[in-house]
Amino acid sequence: MPRGDLKALQLARLQDTVARVANVPFYKVAFARLGVGPDSIKSLDDIRRLPFTTKEDLRQQYPLGFLAVPRSAVARYHGSSGTTGKPTFVAYTARDLQMWADLCSRFLVAGGLKPHHTVHVAFGYGLFTGGFGLHYGIERVGAAIVPASSGNTPRQILLIRDLDAEVLISTPSYALQIAEVAREQGLTPSDLPLKYAHFGGEPWTEDMRLEIEAQLGIEAYNNYGLSEVIGPGVSGECHLRDGMHIQEDHFVVECVDPETLEPITDGSYGELVITALTKEAFPLLRYRTRDIAALEGCPCDCGRTSIRMSRIVGRTDDMLIIRGVNVFPSQIEEALLRVEGTAPHYEIVIERPAALDEVTVRVEVRPEIFSDSMREMQILKEKLVREIVSVTGIRARVELVSPQTLQRTPGKAKRVIDLRKA
Ligand code: ADP
Ligand code: ZN
Repeated sequence: MPRGDLKALQLARLQDTVARVANVPFYKVAFARLGVGPDSIKSLDDIRRLPFTTKEDLRQQYPLGFLAVPRSAVARYHGSSGTTGKPTFVAYTARDLQMWADLCSRFLVAGGLKPHHTVHVAFGYGLFTGGFGLHYGIERVGAAIVPASSGNTPRQILLIRDLDAEVLISTPSYALQIAEVAREQGLTPSDLPLKYAHFGGEPWTEDMRLEIEAQLGIEAYNNYGLSEVIGPGVSGECHLRDGMHIQEDHFVVECVDPETLEPITDGSYGELVITALTKEAFPLLRYRTRDIAALEGCPCDCGRTSIRMSRIVGRTDDMLIIRGVNVFPSQIEEALLRVEGTAPHYEIVIERPAALDEVTVRVEVRPEIFSDSMREMQILKEKLVREIVSVTGIRARVELVSPQTLQRTPGKAKRVIDLRKA
């Protein structure tokens, strides 16, 4: 859609959404406080007159204070996976579910999904939006689904092989685990039928993409979303894989400075703030995602006219402030993957033994490199320390651990262990 038409559609849909949420108690109060209402939105820039919505607001309105339709109109509930505390619930009408399936089908098709493919879904089916969200998107495309859900990795591999799945849906960290177990079983990438994968749900780096692609013999695509906004389907990569196209006919995405909340317009990193334009049951205005990314406005060569977002470098709540320097776990990942010899399994431990924070990065050594030679291990460690300094600016302690000793999870990886709060 030409950008002018897209903007006009966004404006009309924004006006409609503001009118629809005017009776949601939270927005009623906020609109009165700010002196705004449905008539205040004359241009898209007027979105800045609307109130933000935060995770804390959702908690205060727990469980369903933001519902904008009668309970009888709700067709399904989901919840956030609770990565950062108590879950929050979201709701969908039947029309919301249709729209969500459309949104997921778009990024799947942009990333190569064809109706003749068989798709293995290793996302959990449950309150988490990943499983069901992708499921219905795949169905919309007309491909065949293996709803494997999460866990039991050997069984996942059996299903992938015996049912000839060409496409894998999971978190990137779980894909690595599948690769690892396949290797233990003596399988090579060519023994697996997989060709494509669509990953989301957690931050990952470009080097991690190359690593997983090599280990599984696939082409991997990134997609983004969050339950408060809809689930997967907010954005996803096209075949050029240079940023995720935001589905702007359904969402307005702003990028703001998380401290001042002022807009960031020069393409640098900030917090994404998302307004859903078409949701009926649970439309949130200016939801502060706490996800840090940059927006790219210049047109993509694929022909889609939407703006794109970068990878999520981290969440504001995951951001480590180490001796005054802001560091995201994904930067540590980037440093680790630059050094030959370590496996992409790591965790970051933060302690505050005295006044200052201390960071220890535990990383697994690759089985073929793992050695009794203290000297070799010392050299590897020093390389890692240097690389971490060069990417993040902080000096961390590096602890090399034997292959396969760090905990694996079937869903989102837990990278940070913060002992300062203990
Ligand atoms: P939560 O993890 O907060 O309990 P969700 O299950 O809704 O809730 O997960 C949404 C979050 O997952 C996003 O806010 C974001 O932090 C992360 N996420 C989702 N997709 C991606 C992605 N492609 N890259 C990085 N992070 C992602
Ligand atoms: Zn594109």
